[in-house]
Amino acid sequence: MSATSRKQDAPVCSLCGRPAVIFQPVSKRHLCAEHLIAHVDKRVAEAVAATGCAREGGRIAVALSGGKDSTALLVSLVRALPSDAKARLVAITVDEGIAGYRADTIRAAQELTQRLGVEQRFISFQEIIGKDLDTILAGQENRACTVCGILRRKALARAAHELGATVVATGHNLDDEAQSVLMNALRGDLFRMLRDPGSGNCDAFIPRIKPLAAVSEKEIAAYLFVQGIFPVLPECPYTRYALRAEIRSMLSRLENTTPGTMENLIRAKKTLGKFCQGKTTKEDLHPCRECGDPCSGDLCQFCLLKLSLGK
Ligand code: SF4
Ligand code: ZN
Repeated sequence: MSATSRKQDAPVCSLCGRPAVIFQPVSKRHLCAEHLIAHVDKRVAEAVAATGCAREGGRIAVALSGGKDSTALLVSLVRALPSDAKARLVAITVDEGIAGYRADTIRAAQELTQRLGVEQRFISFQEIIGKDLDTILAGQENRACTVCGILRRKALARAAHELGATVVATGHNLDDEAQSVLMNALRGDLFRMLRDPGSGNCDAFIPRIKPLAAVSEKEIAAYLFVQGIFPVLPECPYTRYALRAEIRSMLSRLENTTPGTMENLIRAKKTLGKFCQGKTTKEDLHPCRECGDPCSGDLCQFCLLKLSLGK
């Protein structure tokens, strides 16, 4: 095949005819760099607009790990928000204390906020519980992601409160959402799958949004790549203990052979949610007996963890 005919065969954007950089298997669209950026930015702008936060002078705290997803989220938010609302953006970077991993991602996060001119707050597990994750986990590494998740939520909530945030935005993407649906199904935990992290009647609750929840990991990687951003970072050493890692590779394989698998899982969850509306979907939150943070039991997960660690 000649170079010319290869060129002619190269996929073009379904919207404008320019060279395509990605194919969206469900909508069967090819998109060029410009339309991919517009597609992602639109999703993010819509998610933020739905909170009314930019309009009402609220403050958006972005959970910025420095990895691909949170980097894409911050880049997109900075572009999506009008300049007065942009000034109220703040990035929160949590240092879990994971040797050989976190230093690089923290550096990447710091370079990004400096380049974008966004205020950044750091908070560490050391600050909230007096130990880093590596120390807490010694001998029980298989609990890594559960413990890390509880402490990270606490750290984020504390920093968000201190900064006067009215909403917390996280970089969860479509792949993450599909993995969560399947993980909860495999655990038989329908309540967790369908729960709405609603505010109940607890004042301390700060709503969370996931503006990238409908954007796939592949789209996010391409979104960053076409803008010249290539965060090549180490992987957390505890990933190998996580059920999520297995689910992730299984779903990626399925998505390749059966495009749309991930979106179908999310659609199935939404349909199930409609059937169960008013039954299991609303979490009844109230203040934790120890720390006052919103929780659904007597003690929050963080205080239960502290007790189990003898703190
Ligand atoms: Fe924490 Fe697990 Fe993510 Fe590592 S892989 S940062 S332990 S949640
Ligand atoms: Zn508590």
